[in-house]
Order: sequence, then structure tokens, then C-alpha cells
Amino acid sequence: MSGPSETESSRSLFGRSREDVASALPDREPVLCPLCRRPPQRFAIDFQGLHLARCRSCGLQFHSPRPVLEQMATAVYGAAYHRPEEAEVDARHERHYARQVARLERCLDVERRHLLDVGCGAGAFLRFVSERGWEVEGTDVVVTDWARASGARLWAGELPTIDFGTTRYDVVRFNHVLEHTRDPLVELRRAREVVSPSGILLVGVPNVAGLSLRLKSWQSRLGLKSKRWRHYAALHHLWFFTPATLQRLVEAAGFEVILVETPVMDRPDRSPALTGVYRGLLETCRAGSLLDLYARAR
Ligand SMILES: [Zn+2]
Repeated sequence: MSGPSETESSRSLFGRSREDVASALPDREPVLCPLCRRPPQRFAIDFQGLHLARCRSCGLQFHSPRPVLEQMATAVYGAAYHRPEEAEVDARHERHYARQVARLERCLDVERRHLLDVGCGAGAFLRFVSERGWEVEGTDVVVTDWARASGARLWAGELPTIDFGTTRYDVVRFNHVLEHTRDPLVELRRAREVVSPSGILLVGVPNVAGLSLRLKSWQSRLGLKSKRWRHYAALHHLWFFTPATLQRLVEAAGFEVILVETPVMDRPDRSPALTGVYRGLLETCRAGSLLDLYARAR
């Protein structure tokens, strides 16, 4: 996965006091719903003083007012954001990546294997998929040395600002990236422009409608958590998706949704048998903690 977990980013500002956050990120800007162009209604303030809000029309949840992104670039996404070990594919991620690649291969002809990995991070997926015979390129706001070592062609910057010339990709993938962006609808519309005719979009994000996140939200509402709404990770996550709200955005960008899944990552503290039962239950109810959406360009 390209984005770090809460633990990985806690070396920076995540988890620190409201005062530390306020001094590192002094300026805030209001955000409108990208779909409805309306101001949202606040539903919570998290343990770091960050505001969580929801669009009254479409239900999309997001951070508003939010820190200005230029300040976040230095305070949150510093050089330490990605770590060398993220460049390697561990067993949990290997299973998840293999699942994504199997779904993509089912949607595409064998000769159509040109993928753009938006927000490629330390490049683990670039390596994984190129070893399976795909042609792969990546983008990132800051291109890391580990991604460069993958040998893939890389593009620096936010997707909407990159000029790919006449190149079109069979797959555009955002894996734990869309929730970090300035405007997810602008990103998805740009993806629609750079994907080939009937090409595939893959978006993986955290699922705020997942069972585990819902339980934590209730605990936060009831004041049972010492660090309320920490599971939203609002310091670096700016958008919080459910299967329904993500689907609406993707359709508005010009895609037709093919498949929505809520995968469950393996956990070392859970037995394989229990994981199997738990995964089956949560994936059937679309209540897993992750959300993977596959769509085809209309
Ligand atoms: Zn809306």
C-alpha cells in the first residue's frame, strides 16, 4: 500500500497535542463538497482539534475547515513519511496486491497491461506488478529513491498537473492515495482523461462504513476513547469514503462501476481459520476496513 499506517506516521505530527498541531498548521481553509458544491455540516472534532464534516446532500465525509495543503506538505509529508521497508512486499500486502492484480487481469485482454500507479510511494506495487509482466509507471508528489530503484518510469507532481502527452494507460490505480488529495473529483476526472478507451480505474481507500471503524466512531461519540476519532487519521486523510459515496464520485468522473469489495487484511494476531470466517462475514456485508472499487471508463 502506498500510504503509511497511523503508526508509521506517528513519528511526525500524528498523535501529538492540539497545541503542536495548531502551531505547525496555523491556517485553515473551508472546503465545499466536490460533487454538490455545498458547505458541509460538522459532526465531530478529533483529539488533535481537526474538524470532521459531512455533506448534507450526498453524505460524503471530509475534513473542513482543513489545514492548508502547503503547510501540510512540510509538517506531515516530510522526508520520513515513507520508510525503506515499505519498498518490500510483505506477506499481507502480497495477498492484497495479488487479489487486485487478479481482478484487473479478469477485466483486461492479455496484451493490455500498461498501468499507472498514482501515489506510488516506496514503489512496492511497481515492483510487484512489473515482475508479473506488466508495463508500469508511477507518480508521486515527492518521488522516492526506493520508487526510482524499481526502474519504472516516474512522474513527479499531483496527477492533475502532470502532462503525459499522448500516453494512455489500460489501468489507473489509486491505492490509499485518493483520501490524501486536494480534490478527489479533480483527480478522478484526470484519471478518466489518461485512461485508454474502456480502461480500468482501481481505487483503494479506508472504508469508514467498515465494522471496525464504525465501532470506533461510536466509542468516539460516546467519549469512550482517550483519542477521539483517531481512526479517521484526519491529519493526513482529508476525505473519508463509504462504498456509496466513493461510487458517486467515480460515476461523476465518467466511469461505470464494475465491482466494489471491502477486503480484510490478514492480522498476525488472528488464526488463519478465524481470519477466514471473519473475512467472509465482513466482505459479504461490505463491512471490511478497506474499500476497493473497480470501474471502467464510459
Ligand atoms: Zn455532496
